[in-house]
Amino acid sequence: MRTELLLGGEWVSKEEKMPVFYPYTGEKVADVSMAGEEDVYKAVERAKEGQKEMALLTPYERYQILMKASEILRDKAEEFARTLVLEVGKTIREARAEVQRAVQTLVFSAEEAKRVGGEIIPIDAHPNGKGKVGFYVREPVGIVSAITPFNFPLNLSMHKVAPALACGNAVILKPSERTPLTPLMLGEVLLEAGLPKGALSILPGYGPVGKAMTTHPDVRVVSFTGSRQVGEIIAKQAGIKRVVLELGSNSAVVLHKDGDLRKAVQKTLLGGYAIAGQVCISVQRVFVHEELFGKFVEELKGGVEGLKIGDPMLEDTDVGPMIGVSEVDRVQEWIREALEEGARLVTGGSKKEHKANLLLPALITLVPSHVKLFREEVFAPLVLVNPYRDLEEAIDMVNDSPYGLQVGLFTRDIGVAWEFIRKVRAGGVLINEGPNFRVDHMPYGGVKNSGIGREGPRFAVEDYTEIKMVIFDLA
Ligand code: NAD
Repeated sequence: MRTELLLGGEWVSKEEKMPVFYPYTGEKVADVSMAGEEDVYKAVERAKEGQKEMALLTPYERYQILMKASEILRDKAEEFARTLVLEVGKTIREARAEVQRAVQTLVFSAEEAKRVGGEIIPIDAHPNGKGKVGFYVREPVGIVSAITPFNFPLNLSMHKVAPALACGNAVILKPSERTPLTPLMLGEVLLEAGLPKGALSILPGYGPVGKAMTTHPDVRVVSFTGSRQVGEIIAKQAGIKRVVLELGSNSAVVLHKDGDLRKAVQKTLLGGYAIAGQVCISVQRVFVHEELFGKFVEELKGGVEGLKIGDPMLEDTDVGPMIGVSEVDRVQEWIREALEEGARLVTGGSKKEHKANLLLPALITLVPSHVKLFREEVFAPLVLVNPYRDLEEAIDMVNDSPYGLQVGLFTRDIGVAWEFIRKVRAGGVLINEGPNFRVDHMPYGGVKNSGIGREGPRFAVEDYTEIKMVIFDLA
């Protein structure tokens, strides 16, 4: 296990340490060197050199490094998965899935390294362009600051680091203070694959490190994934640089009267409780046509009560712990508020005995739209289900949110699907699938308070490059 910080390709041990705890038992699993603001300034200086080294690589050489890294990661998959369980508390099956996704993110990024190109612009299509030809090329921005959250420390770090390197940039990564272990292991993999040393720094640390990384004038792009609250701070403090924000949501699913009820139940179960609901596209708000409401709630209740809760290292565990006790307390407070305002608790919502950060998967119905459980991102193993009368009302309920990441609809009617697609405000719409579905090469991101920009290597390339326009006068 790597516990030093990575400063321009060199492993550096610091006196000040940050403890990393296993959420399931509360035991300390590592003491990791903690970066300070001074490390950010050093990392930026190294990144300037690293960027020069990156510029000497051909696209094919960048492709080779990233492909090699994907092979090393595949070989070390189980080691990565077990470390993910220890730092996040997600189940071993969820951890393995994250590692395999991270391999795909690397491969797609490697392939993009070959495609960073440009386009001919017909300059003489303009009345003033006679006698001129022109084209643009995409160049690396230079230095990228990447800041990532705790829930997918490996794959969400990969979504920033790999495409930014594919474009020829140097990257400074700050993983979540709670989950720095697999991001540091990723640094080791990239160096082993032949990445120029100065091209990567990984600085485990708290907010002040993140602040220095986002405000530094030599950083050209800040790519942040995390909460709306921190996203807002970054948007205000970043100054003149590109800012990409991948923030939270309170994703909705609609089951229309002609939809497949059994499939909707199954997908809600998968999408609402995986990783203890700590997923930005976790199913939170389900709107069911009034004719199907009773049956849906009954079937979902059976499914929720059948989930196996507990030790995330066990192969058959479905739901592990949340990241911390304070998070469970927050959700229980929100549940209390909703119940006081007339909502009905169908099942779950209490703490598992002797396990303060294991919230029993909750199902709540008839939740008024003004309470936090409906309006805010709950980020917990909790799903609320409300009935609706017609499609228009369902669409209004979906859109009654400050967020808009991904939404789902279950219907067999193509007309209904099309109306829904046109009218909902979201970055992604899934028909007959839950909003939590994502593959790593698709454009992924949100509208409203869910953020700005899209990830997925091909789309991230647009953020990690600058367009340089070139014109020749032929006269
Ligand atoms: P968080 O916002 O608390 O922390 C995210 C990162 O920001 C951490 O590395 C943290 O140290 C850093 N940070 C804190 N203060 C900072 C500051 N002032 N300046 C710069 N950086 C600072 O989020 P979290 O609790 O780790 O993760 C959960 C959140 O992430 C949820 O809201 C979830 O929806 C969101 N998320 C979004 C996506 C997406 O792709 N849209 C994916 C996963 C998670």
